[in-house]
Amino acid sequence: MSDLDQLVAQATAEFAGIGEAALLEQAKARYLGKNGAVTELLKGLGKLAADERKNAGAAINSAKERIEAALNARREALRQVALDLQLKAEALDITLPGRGLPTGGLHPVTRTLERIEALFRSIGFDVADGPEIEDDFHNFTALNTPENHPARSMHDTFYLENSPGLLLRTHTSPIQVRYMETHKPPIRIIAPGRVYRVDSDATHSPMFHQVEGLWIDENVSFADLKGVFTDFLRNFFEKPDLRTRFRPSFFPFTEPSAEIDMSCVFCEGNGCRVCSHTGWLEIAGSGMVHPNVLKHVGIDSEKYIGFAFGMGPDRLTMLRYGVNDLRLFFDGDLRFLSQFK
Ligand SMILES: [Zn+2]
Repeated sequence: MSDLDQLVAQATAEFAGIGEAALLEQAKARYLGKNGAVTELLKGLGKLAADERKNAGAAINSAKERIEAALNARREALRQVALDLQLKAEALDITLPGRGLPTGGLHPVTRTLERIEALFRSIGFDVADGPEIEDDFHNFTALNTPENHPARSMHDTFYLENSPGLLLRTHTSPIQVRYMETHKPPIRIIAPGRVYRVDSDATHSPMFHQVEGLWIDENVSFADLKGVFTDFLRNFFEKPDLRTRFRPSFFPFTEPSAEIDMSCVFCEGNGCRVCSHTGWLEIAGSGMVHPNVLKHVGIDSEKYIGFAFGMGPDRLTMLRYGVNDLRLFFDGDLRFLSQFK
């Protein structure tokens, strides 16, 4: 074996023994670098006679090419090993089942509101809306609430600090006022929405919901109120035998006024803990719209008459699903809310 063949064999063996790319480049310098073995041989060509120089040069170049080929082969092998290691480390197990995305659900009170709206739409009521920040006129004055009425005291109402005369509506009645200002009878609406009062315990929240209903026409009677509302409750609770009773009461915006009770949905009227053993549950306020309210919105109270009622969808939701603390609806606890999906 010639010296050159030996040099090629030595380089090839050395490259093969190297496991790191950086060390391989150092080894390359020893053969092909500026002071490498092959480079030194090429420098030595100048000392040879011209006729020998050609053959020797070709032989050295051939050896150089073979060393370069061995170097490149080793480089490629090391790159492959590194790639294999990386692929192994970053392997994805595509046979694992997906984790899935949790599906959301409607809030129980939202479900109740949608149910109420659907039931009243089915008998020809429109759904009206209005602002939650109201003025004194629409929240109180137009509803025949005198200046000295307790509902106006700071105790019950959230007033806006830097906007005199503005407040968070304490009921959804101002929606009805605004609707009557812009529509002529016959009027048949329900007005659902959030309302605000300074109040907080197991059955009161500073923010809660109301749905009010209003029917104004030339010939609407208290009997219509009893029929419409009793029918609504029977459909809402899916209890065709549910009974109602109307107790005389007072509201500034209706005359006469009545509290509406319904037979207890838990004991069918026999008496239980929920109804305090009376067999009845208070469920709404109602009455015939006061003529002063119609006057405030420019409706002829000699020609038109109507009824109004107001109820708490939060309470309806508690009764329908058997929930005993109002605050659960607003705490945002998914363990509670996800039961209604
Ligand atoms: Zn009961």
